[in-house]
Amino acid sequence: MDSRTKRDYYEILGVPRNASEEEIRRAYRRLARQYHPDVNKEPDAEAKFKEINEAYQVLSDAEKRAMYDRFGHEGVGNGGFGSYDFTGSPFGFGIETIFENLFGASTRRTRSPRKGNDLRYRLTLTFEEAVFGTTKEIEITRRTVCPRCQGTRAEPGSSPSRCPTCGGSGEVRRMQSTLIGQFVTVTQCNTCQGEGVVITNPCRECRGQGWVTAPRRLEVRVPAGIDESFHLRLSGEGEPGDPGAPSGDLFIEFDIKPHPLFRRVGRDIHLEMPINIVQAALGDTIDIPTLEGTAEVRVEPGTQTGDTIRLRGKGVPSLRGSGRGDQVVTFRVVVPRHLNEKQKQLLRQLGDTLEKPQPEQGEKGFFDRLRESLGL
Ligand SMILES: [Zn+2]
Ligand SMILES: [Zn+2]
Repeated sequence: MDSRTKRDYYEILGVPRNASEEEIRRAYRRLARQYHPDVNKEPDAEAKFKEINEAYQVLSDAEKRAMYDRFGHEGVGNGGFGSYDFTGSPFGFGIETIFENLFGASTRRTRSPRKGNDLRYRLTLTFEEAVFGTTKEIEITRRTVCPRCQGTRAEPGSSPSRCPTCGGSGEVRRMQSTLIGQFVTVTQCNTCQGEGVVITNPCRECRGQGWVTAPRRLEVRVPAGIDESFHLRLSGEGEPGDPGAPSGDLFIEFDIKPHPLFRRVGRDIHLEMPINIVQAALGDTIDIPTLEGTAEVRVEPGTQTGDTIRLRGKGVPSLRGSGRGDQVVTFRVVVPRHLNEKQKQLLRQLGDTLEKPQPEQGEKGFFDRLRESLGL
C-alpha cells in the first residue's frame, strides 16, 4: 500500500492525537470487535480490521508512535523506521503479539533452566550443644544428578532428537476462538515441555529422569550460642537444578531440648536455687550447678525468696563476636513442711524471741507500689 494514500492512524482509531495509551487501547478493542471478519460479514470488514490493527500496532508502541507523530507513515513504514513482519498469521499481521499486548500476559512460555529445590532438615540438639556449639553428622536422602547420564537423561552414547510435535521450537501454535474471533495462540509444547528435544533412548540408571535418589552424609558445624530462631544454610546442598542451573540449598533448623535445671533467657541462663530458712536467715556458702560443673556462691544473711545473684560470664556465648551472658541464680526460701518434735521445739523457742511482722507503715507498702505501677 502506498503510504501517501493511507489514512491517519489516529483517525482510524477515532482518537485525538494526544490520546492516552488507555484511550487507544479501548478504542482498538471496541473497533476490533466491531470489524473482526468472523463477526462482521461486510465485504470491507477484513480490510478495515487490518487497518485498525496496523494503527494500533504503531500507536500502542511509544517509540513507534513518536516516529509516526514526527514523520507520518514514512516514519514507521518499510524502509523507514524498522519494518513489520506482517506474515505468519491468517490476517497477515503479527496478531498474537497484538493479542498479547491487548489482553495482558503472554501465553508464550520459554522454559529456562530452573534452580533445584531447597531442602529442610530439623536437627535436634541438647541444651548444652546449643550453648557451646557442636559438630553433627547428618544423613539426608535427596535427589542427586544421575552419575550415568550426568543429568542429560539420555543413555550415554545416544543423543536427544528433535521433538516431532513442535519441530524443535518448544512451542505449539494453535487457533483459538475468543470473544472477538479466532486468534493464534502460542503455548509450550507438551511433548517436550518446551525443550525442543525428546529423549528417545532414556538413561537406564535413572530411567530418563536425570536424577537418582541417594543418601548423603554431611557434617554440620553448629556454632555456639544458637537458639531455635536460628537456621543454617548450606549452599548447593539441596536438590539439583536443571542442567546448567545451580542446586538448591539445604536449610538446617534446630529443635533444642529443654534442660531439667536451666532455662535460657537470651544470653543468660536462669537457675532457681532452693535454700532453707536457716540458710536464708543466717547466710551460707553453697555449691550450685552451672553448665560447667559446680560453682561456690555466697548466700547473704537475710536472703528472701526472689533475691538474685549473677555469675558473670557463666551464660551463653555470643553467636557473633565475643563475650558470654551470665548465669542468674534466683533463691527460693523453702519453708519446711514436716518437722519432728525436736525441730518444732527449737522453732517455738526462736519464735518467742521474734517480733511478729506488721503491715509496713511509712515505707511504701505493697499497695503503694501496686498503685504506682498502675500509674494511679
Ligand atoms: Zn541417568
Ligand atoms: Zn516439542
